[in-house]
Amino acid sequence: MMNLADYGLTPDMLPEHFEGTAARITAVHKERYALVCAHGELYGRLKASVYYAKGGESFPTVGDFVHIDYVPDGDSRIVATLPRKTYFSRRDPTPGRGEQAVAANFDYVFIMQSLNHDFNPKRLERYLTLARQSNAIPVIVLTKADLMEDCDSHLRAVGKTAAGVDAFAISTKTGLGFDLLADYLKPRKTIVLLGSSGVGKSSLLNALLEEKRMEVKNIRESDSKGRHATTVRQLVMLKNGAMVIDTPGMRELGMWDVSSGLDKAFADVEQYLGRCRFADCSHESEPGCAIKAAIENGALSQKRWESYVALKSEAEYSDDKAAYLRNKERKNKGISQLIRQMKKPDYRHAPCLETFTCKVCGTPVVPEGAGSGHRNHCPNCLASIHVDNEPGDRASLCKGVMEPIGVWVRKNGEWALIHRCRTCGALSSNRVAADDNPALLMSIAVKPLALPPFPLDRIGKHT
Ligand code: GDP
Ligand code: ZN
Repeated sequence: MMNLADYGLTPDMLPEHFEGTAARITAVHKERYALVCAHGELYGRLKASVYYAKGGESFPTVGDFVHIDYVPDGDSRIVATLPRKTYFSRRDPTPGRGEQAVAANFDYVFIMQSLNHDFNPKRLERYLTLARQSNAIPVIVLTKADLMEDCDSHLRAVGKTAAGVDAFAISTKTGLGFDLLADYLKPRKTIVLLGSSGVGKSSLLNALLEEKRMEVKNIRESDSKGRHATTVRQLVMLKNGAMVIDTPGMRELGMWDVSSGLDKAFADVEQYLGRCRFADCSHESEPGCAIKAAIENGALSQKRWESYVALKSEAEYSDDKAAYLRNKERKNKGISQLIRQMKKPDYRHAPCLETFTCKVCGTPVVPEGAGSGHRNHCPNCLASIHVDNEPGDRASLCKGVMEPIGVWVRKNGEWALIHRCRTCGALSSNRVAADDNPALLMSIAVKPLALPPFPLDRIGKHT
């Protein structure tokens, strides 16, 4: 006899005077659901009159507890989805259908990034927002620690982005960090794995299972011919009674409706909103802007503000793509009119001789010393601002910070910097100037060699 309490069901999750059979969904196929219940493991199908009626029950997903009419010699009938403690959802791909849950009733969200090349604090913030919105407790798991000499600097970076959230570095190769995860892997608790493909979700699950999970490529939908239908379960129970959800649905988890989680994740930023002199302040150049004041007096970091803006626009975008684009277009039209009125300079054919203060590091930059007519990045921090579409045209509306991400060598042997816009991702190549910070140039140039994506001793084996 299986006890659903061992699968995490608590009495408060059942409706009052509940009679009948409760079950937990362990895998979802097109029309069939793999279930566990007091009768063991079985399959169920939705009761159409309940689920397909207008305003019907929410379709069950992996981890859901459901009410079933048990059928001993066939598929049982799923008659209700019980209220969820926690869940992730995405927009239903079928138009007009609203949201679709992709995992439910988990206690912890393991937010996974690999230390070698997937590590990205911005994405981490986005995952944290999703996790908080699900109502479960986020735990940050940095994988592939064996490929990293110094995990501590990354853990410190995480500490800044995600204050108060537990973060660990682990390796499925060496077993490092598994003892720390044990705090979460407790009987009756459910963990869901969230992270990009390749970060090591399957490896972690296999390591926790202490055996290879059966990998079956073609999931047979029907066992009508008497053959056994094998499925890869998406909710698995570990030997110690903890459960792990690893579903393909999680991998496509969109950013839909993250806005309501934003205020929790960015309470430190949102406290300044609504305090500007002008109600419609764009926080760019208006006087009396509370955001600018907070950044200037150090109460709010510029980076944090940029993350918030990026995430906010992403949330707006996924909330309502059409409205977002209309709004942006309107804004851009207004801006390009303004630009025409201001007769913006054009440096495509004449050198730029402006003196400016670097927006990133604050260094005053003068035209002298560049060794050429074009000074397009700060000689100290090498950053630039996304003002050009074509070099010198000053036509871009983006104005994001262009980060120096690489160095390449031109045909004539001259070095050029590759800049990438932090706001929109645009790339551009720019000649280095005579007085560019040589130490920083060198460190950018050797970055790929300093952080190879493979163990160095493999070079020996291949030569
Ligand atoms: P998933 O897509 O998130 O499920 O990622 P996988 O578990 O399939 O892992 C992707 C790749 O990373 C595989 O080649 C694994 O062998 C490798 N990998 C996973 N965990 C580790 C680890 O701790 N250390 C190292 N060096 N490689 C790992
Ligand atoms: Zn840009």
